[in-house]
Amino acid sequence: MKGKQDGPVFTFISGVHGFEFAPIIAVQKLMQVIDVNQLHGTLIILPISSPGSFYNRTPYKNPQDNVNLNNAFPGNANGTITQKMAHYITQNIIPLSDVFLDIHSGDAPEDLLPFICYYNNERHKENTAMAKRLSDISGFQYVVSYPYTITDEEPAKYAFKQAVQTGKLL
Ligand SMILES: [Zn+2]
Repeated sequence: MKGKQDGPVFTFISGVHGFEFAPIIAVQKLMQVIDVNQLHGTLIILPISSPGSFYNRTPYKNPQDNVNLNNAFPGNANGTITQKMAHYITQNIIPLSDVFLDIHSGDAPEDLLPFICYYNNERHKENTAMAKRLSDISGFQYVVSYPYTITDEEPAKYAFKQAVQTGKLL
């Protein structure tokens, strides 16, 4: 969704775990209330990032290849279907994003307290400070700062860790 005014690119992805329905519903509700005439910048929204998991109601993994998308980053262009999806997001979505928000909820056997989290990436101090600020004003009671300990060469595994590895915010 491209706003009439220029501004940052804010990406929402949900359904990385396709059984986590709450964020999938939430971003679709968000899409209905956004007025591009009022919007400054661009929203990229991937409502169902792992369709195989969603349509088969499979917790965590895509039953097409038994791979967890949130363990597959940066992905592989020649890998399984889930590894290809991770590769696509890494190559085509993350580079466009100024802010990258990967929304999860409790999966089939889980019950979570709502929280927002960001990585404390010491190599991108300004982005980390902005991620903290956005988290602090998000309205969530609990804000969690994860230590960021991987090198730039290690597989990030998680979608939002992949974004952080390339200097994106969340
Ligand atoms: Zn999840």
